[in-house]
Amino acid sequence: MWTARVFTLYPEIFPGPLNKGLYGRALGKKTWNLEVVNIRDSAEDKHKTVDDTPFGGGSGMLLKPDILGKSIDSNIKKGEKIFYLSPRGKKLDQKIAKKLSKEKTINLVCGNFEGIDERIVRARNMEEISIGDYILSGGEIASFVVIDSVLRLLPNVLGNDKSKNDESFENGLLEYPQYTKPQIWEKKSVPEVLLSGDHAKIKDWRLSQSEAITRDRRPDLWQKYK
Ligand code: SAH
Repeated sequence: MWTARVFTLYPEIFPGPLNKGLYGRALGKKTWNLEVVNIRDSAEDKHKTVDDTPFGGGSGMLLKPDILGKSIDSNIKKGEKIFYLSPRGKKLDQKIAKKLSKEKTINLVCGNFEGIDERIVRARNMEEISIGDYILSGGEIASFVVIDSVLRLLPNVLGNDKSKNDESFENGLLEYPQYTKPQIWEKKSVPEVLLSGDHAKIKDWRLSQSEAITRDRRPDLWQKYK
């Protein structure tokens, strides 16, 4: 069973959005597993201190390496990969999501405040993953994003296993436009070809739409696709 173990100071916000719909059902059926570790449980003083000020000055607080280290070491199993959600990390994409879906367990460390002490990132060999070029207040929402992107790749989580192969990025292209009923809405009809029943023609049309949209909106993806 694919497992995400999340290290956080806010355990109460999990599973949160991961408990909805098919993901929630799959969680209930143990198709996947979520373990949430409260970093604060590893604090040692009576105030349950987890953070401190940065050496060298500067604003904000950093998660202490001793506390985080204790939390990690008493919860992970040998051989498991540890990922730190961080704006400095490799940017999450479909390829990384696929790679993560092949692991048995992923450990996700959520920073807070100004981040975490650099030594533990290295000492525990963490791989850093970013969800984009902006700064969040904590790693929790980023961990939801990472887990969501993996869950839809796991077998038996989404009802229709084929649907995920048609999505944007699967073939390096953005998705073609899609339409549903009613066939005419606000005097606008859906593209004729989709009503033709000619599956080869529909496939061609969709590919050409995907290509046009990708060329237009994402020159970076288009360069790689060509
Ligand atoms: N001082 C840090 C930012 C800390 S933000 C810096 O400038 O790099 C606080 C926490 O939010 C981080 O420790 C990280 O876990 C999380 N976080 C912020 N932005 C993120 C992003 N784009 N992707 C993933 N995690 C992020």
